[in-house]
Amino acid sequence: MGLREYRKKRNFARTPEPAGDSRKLALSKRPSFVIQKHAARQLHYDFRLELDGVLKSWAVPKGPSLDPGEKRLAVHVEDHPLEYGGFEGVIPDRQYGAGTALIWDRGTWTPLDPDPEAAYAKGNLEFVLDGEKLHGKWALVRMGGKHAGRNGENWLLIKERDAAAMPQSGDAIVVDNPRSVATGRALEEIAANRDRVWGPNGEERGTAATEPKPQARIARVPGAKKGRLAADPKPQLATASDHAPD
Ligand code: MN
Repeated sequence: MGLREYRKKRNFARTPEPAGDSRKLALSKRPSFVIQKHAARQLHYDFRLELDGVLKSWAVPKGPSLDPGEKRLAVHVEDHPLEYGGFEGVIPDRQYGAGTALIWDRGTWTPLDPDPEAAYAKGNLEFVLDGEKLHGKWALVRMGGKHAGRNGENWLLIKERDAAAMPQSGDAIVVDNPRSVATGRALEEIAANRDRVWGPNGEERGTAATEPKPQARIARVPGAKKGRLAADPKPQLATASDHAPD
């Protein structure tokens, strides 16, 4: 699928999400996984597995469950760049996926199939997660028949039976562990700092592009010409006014 659809949906001058570097290759020996909790129009969990140099992605409305009896709908969405795994912050209003995202879990995954690309293409991936919240064996299975969705985008995320499974636990894993594994913050705390962008280790990465860049604003002033700043600007007294000068 590649990153074409991902990039087409987003305006990187306005959103703090990464555009992704197509030249970047997967350097890690064990592929990464990340789950982002994303309060967009509807809260969901974005489940992403590193495969083929991108993050294969599924939106899971109810989030994962440790109960093997709970089969969670996972809607396959566009591939995301590997850098997306470090994204936590606010996607500005009117941008694709507008809302707040936090890094709910992350770690590495180990496919149980010797050819994970083929297993993915077949729609039957089994793997072990080694995350901070999620562990053990899981499966992602593409649905057939009338539940498949128009483009076969409907999959199921299922916890397999093992020592990490918790039968009858329902939503406990998401309800009891709402915070970011990267920064320890809840969604509300990230939303309250919507002018900041945070990196994967809690370091501040700068300011979200919620305002047009200054150049873009200047370019829109009719008749304005580009020029140098005055070398020696003189200070002037400024007085508050409620109307523009004539
Ligand atoms: Mn999402």
